Amino acid sequence: MTDCLFCKIVSGDVPAKIVRESAGTVAFRDINPQAPTHVLVIPREHHPTVGELAAADPELLAELLGEARQVAEDEGVAEGGYRIVFNTGPQAGQTVFHVHAHVLGGRGLNWPPG
Ligand code: IMP
Repeated sequence: MTDCLFCKIVSGDVPAKIVRESAGTVAFRDINPQAPTHVLVIPREHHPTVGELAAADPELLAELLGEARQVAEDEGVAEGGYRIVFNTGPQAGQTVFHVHAHVLGGRGLNWPPG
């Protein structure tokens, strides 16, 4: 999608601090980190929400989750604990409608979230 910020990160038209890449995904640091580790993992293909990705391409969703797990390992937060978050829809706080997993770790994380 030409007007999608995260599609532009995939194409290289918008710069990002990329930490991992796989055949179907790209992982990069969030521009406004909410924890010492805050990485976004996105599919290269445009899907607006995690629900739509699950329906359209469950194998790609599985790849994305595997990459999120590997980011946590690479960042050294897997052992202490981390969170994978998909904000889905405006009321849940989704602002970029290209599905992304937030990988958050490196500090205590409250429950329930706000
Ligand atoms: P959402 O609110 O769940 O949709 O998350 C969108 C995330 O994208 C937020 O955490 C933003 O800080 C992050 N973000 C927005 N623009 C950029 C960017 O250009 N690079 C990296 N992260 C971004």
